[in-house]
Amino acid sequence: MPNNPDIIILGAGAAGLSAAVELAQAGLKVTILEARDRIGGRIFTKHDPVCHAPVELGAEFIHGRPPEIWKLLRKQHIRARKLKGEQWCAQEGKLCQCDFLSKVDQILEEMDDHGPDQSFLEFLERCCPNSDNDPKLQDAKAWARSYVKGFHAADPALISVHSLVRGMRADEKIDGDRPFRMKGGYQALIEIFRRQLDEADVSIEISTRAQSVSWDQADVQVTALDEANEVFTFAAPQVLITLPLGVLQANPDDKGALRFIPELPPAKLQALDQLAMGKVIRLTLRFRQRFWEKLRPSHSTKSKTLSRMQFLLSQEDWFPTWWTALPEKWPVITGWAPFYCGERLSGQSEAFVIEKGLETLGKLLRIGRQELEDLLEASYTHDWQTDPFSRGAYSYVKVGGDRAQLDLAAPLNSNLFFAGEATDVSGHHGTVHGAIASGKRAAAEILKTRN
Ligand SMILES: Cc1cc2nc3c(=O)[nH]c(=O)nc-3n(C[C@H](O)[C@H](O)[C@H](O)COP(=O)(O)OP(=O)(O)OC[C@H]3O[C@@H](n4cnc5c(N)ncnc54)[C@H](O)[C@@H]3O)c2cc1C
Repeated sequence: MPNNPDIIILGAGAAGLSAAVELAQAGLKVTILEARDRIGGRIFTKHDPVCHAPVELGAEFIHGRPPEIWKLLRKQHIRARKLKGEQWCAQEGKLCQCDFLSKVDQILEEMDDHGPDQSFLEFLERCCPNSDNDPKLQDAKAWARSYVKGFHAADPALISVHSLVRGMRADEKIDGDRPFRMKGGYQALIEIFRRQLDEADVSIEISTRAQSVSWDQADVQVTALDEANEVFTFAAPQVLITLPLGVLQANPDDKGALRFIPELPPAKLQALDQLAMGKVIRLTLRFRQRFWEKLRPSHSTKSKTLSRMQFLLSQEDWFPTWWTALPEKWPVITGWAPFYCGERLSGQSEAFVIEKGLETLGKLLRIGRQELEDLLEASYTHDWQTDPFSRGAYSYVKVGGDRAQLDLAAPLNSNLFFAGEATDVSGHHGTVHGAIASGKRAAAEILKTRN
């Protein structure tokens, strides 16, 4: 830890790291305090030792062409590949090729943000008159509900339609519905930040969890605990907080949570209340081979196999969504259990999560449970909900929370600043590029106070 840092940053996720780079490159002495024994936060890549595939436990996709990520990749000559392959949907017990987005688009395009805000569930109930007599429209509504639960990991009865519209507009600008994957996994992005921070001489204290922030004095004081629970006090004229929404919402006595001294003002507390943390359990399974390549869902010898399957979408209870590694041909498949599915799996043993994953996959692909188990060689999962340093997967806005992200992002006293994906106001919250943008925004605010 350097003596007398100009700024202390809490959290070494994408937001904290991007802010640190900007501030250090502008000549400030920066110290980062990070609770985990690694940097990256909700970016957490492992590498399968057998097939050498990068396995993501957190973020996996680059959604479209956000400049915050692509500029860095181009500069460092790191490749990202567009996902290619087919979408398959399970319907009435059958698998068929489908165009999922065009199925739900006809519903999502009906949303607008002119009238008073409403939840997505309220919108679905009111939209599309006469849909009760139209089975196709009923079907599209059911898939739209699955989409909002799946993509936003959100409760459809809570999520704000205004925020969904803002997100869709933001996505349109960056081709957000075209997913890419980084060669080597998302860790490659963290390594870029690590190199930049080394060059700029930023000090990173890992395994150091902030416990309290006293912000009503000239120098902000941060108390933190190390692995052995020894207490340290750090001080700096300014502090940037990039902790996940779930951590900021937690009771200050809970592990990883932060106590503000004095307490945060009412506008900030209200903002915390108007945002929610989406829940997800993801499970990656590595099999002996890509056994689905030879499966013919319609059981006719002339029909198509699943060899080009990218996404497999269903409305199953435990793991409704699955995807393969295509265009890479690794024998890997990932299950996605959002919102209620994730909630039920959260806190359960890893064996239970794998059990439910295999049960769902077997049902969807019509493969016997024993056969699937015999083919399985490795599995990877992480419970972001019970993880004290994330307390959920990523944020969404609740009905009526139009101002919440703005209020959460607002600096206090010119000495306390806020970043992190939940503070993004441009419709890109809940993403890596939204987190990076929030870090850059907060760095600009800090530098402005110093001019
Ligand atoms: C399962 C999953 C899948 C996802 N998929 C995608 C995807 O495909 N594409 C995409 O763009 N985004 C995705 N996301 C979202 C994306 O990962 C996040 O939006 C982004 O990484 C958040 O960055 P951040 O810096 O705001 O927060 P974080 O990465 O959470 O960083 C905050 C840091 O603060 C630390 N911290 C917490 N408490 C303390 C404390 N008391 N003291 C010190 N440090 C503390 C944490 O350990 C963490 O390192 C996914 C997230 C999850 C969980």
